[in-house]
Amino acid sequence: MNFYSTRGFGPVSGAEAIVKGLADDGGLFVPETFPKVTSEEINDLCSLEYAERSAYVMSRFLTDFTYEELLSYTQKAYARFDGDAAPLTKVDDGFFLLELWHGPTLAFKDIALTVLPYLLTASKKKIGKNTKTQILVATSGDTGKAALEGFKDVDGTEITVLYPAEGVSDMQKKQMTTTEGKNVHVLGVKGNFDDAQNAVKRIFASETMKKAFADVGYELSSANSINFGRLVPQIAYYFSSYCDLVNAEEIEVGQEINFVVPSGNFGNILAGYYAKRMGLPVQHLIVASNKNDVLTDFFATGRYDANRTFHKTISPSMDILVSSNLERLLYEMEDRNAESVKELMTSLKEYGFYRVDEDIVYDKIPEFFGYCSNEEETKNTMDNFYDDYTYLIDPHTAVGVSAFFKYMGEVYDDTTPTVVVGTASPYKFPQSVLEAVGKIKEEDAEKAAKKLSRLTSTEIPEAISALSSKPVLHEKVADKKDIESEVLAFVGGKV
Ligand SMILES: *Cc1c(COP(=O)(O)O)cnc(C)c1O
Repeated sequence: MNFYSTRGFGPVSGAEAIVKGLADDGGLFVPETFPKVTSEEINDLCSLEYAERSAYVMSRFLTDFTYEELLSYTQKAYARFDGDAAPLTKVDDGFFLLELWHGPTLAFKDIALTVLPYLLTASKKKIGKNTKTQILVATSGDTGKAALEGFKDVDGTEITVLYPAEGVSDMQKKQMTTTEGKNVHVLGVKGNFDDAQNAVKRIFASETMKKAFADVGYELSSANSINFGRLVPQIAYYFSSYCDLVNAEEIEVGQEINFVVPSGNFGNILAGYYAKRMGLPVQHLIVASNKNDVLTDFFATGRYDANRTFHKTISPSMDILVSSNLERLLYEMEDRNAESVKELMTSLKEYGFYRVDEDIVYDKIPEFFGYCSNEEETKNTMDNFYDDYTYLIDPHTAVGVSAFFKYMGEVYDDTTPTVVVGTASPYKFPQSVLEAVGKIKEEDAEKAAKKLSRLTSTEIPEAISALSSKPVLHEKVADKKDIESEVLAFVGGKV
């Protein structure tokens, strides 16, 4: 299987796409076709365990790896999870929650970021690269810690994470800034997530920066969901949850289901779209947004307008105005015409805006629906969900549940079984959850976690309780203009 950039560059192999992360023309790598998975193959997947299902789905794209190689990565990666990697829970008739937060950092990013280091290290070997890799990551909170955990002490790599200094939860900040490991760097940025992401994109596009890193022996790569190696392990849990529904006799193979996905950078739900294109019976993909509702507007009108107020919300991992992975969907909407994608992306860069014909939205991607929820709705959803089901959900998952109810109420009385994708543990955001569910205000994250645990008789995950004794190791915060020199300085380089 070959890969092409959404802006035309290519072809490259899967291993090359993973090593590069972002294409030289600034585009994102996409597979040349969507491999087809038949009903019989889905049936066969249902008798396998998660690591095997995942390796199978990945093997269909990454044909330069054997199934056995991929299986060895997924088995090692998912052994780090607390029990199943992606368990499905029945909430109510036809309503299911996919819990993707049982990994080492308690967010769905672990599903891909525990596998990516194996993929990257093996990809470098396959294409005969001996240079060291500098992984550069922009995070709205969860990617950062998951990437740090995945890449810490991995030979031949350095990992640098940029996060908005005032834009992540206390727990997220504590998780990142206490990370040990000899190759680990964390930098707070005075700005929001988009500023951090722009800096990363700028560095990738800069010949000067590439040369400066090369001078100290490094080649750049990305662990953000712009890297195809991040995306491909995420496709697997759409298949896996489908199989779990089959095994629980909730559906029969061939029957359609819906997915609702709390979305920010659009990587998670894009993986669901890829699963559908491979043949997974999916009816609707419901894009859930918080008060940052740029995606909701896009799916309603075809206008993508990032010129709007940036809101800091209680679901910070979705506080994003420029959703990078939408470029991969645009590529499909534009019938894989790289020139059209380039024009849209130029417009986005110059004016913060682009427009796709409304008919294209309705005709090419009729499966997509978008809903947004404000802070009040998100809090009420956490509260009601706990009252109704004695089930604690985090603010991001609550945005998903809220979107599901809006979809059910406003558009259809749809009886299609629906899976809401749960993206983080409630204990990553204990102050917000405690306030919503218990009406208790507690500023201190660790105290809030303890109170939440006592109130709801649920256990604080080890990854959170262990934080209190860990010293902060990374305190650096930089102005936007100093990002380039700071990240170079981490590895002894200079502009
Ligand atoms: C990253 C993240 C999201 C958004 O996922 P995207 O792939 O960026 O759309 C939602 N919820 C949580 C908890 C996350 O960490």
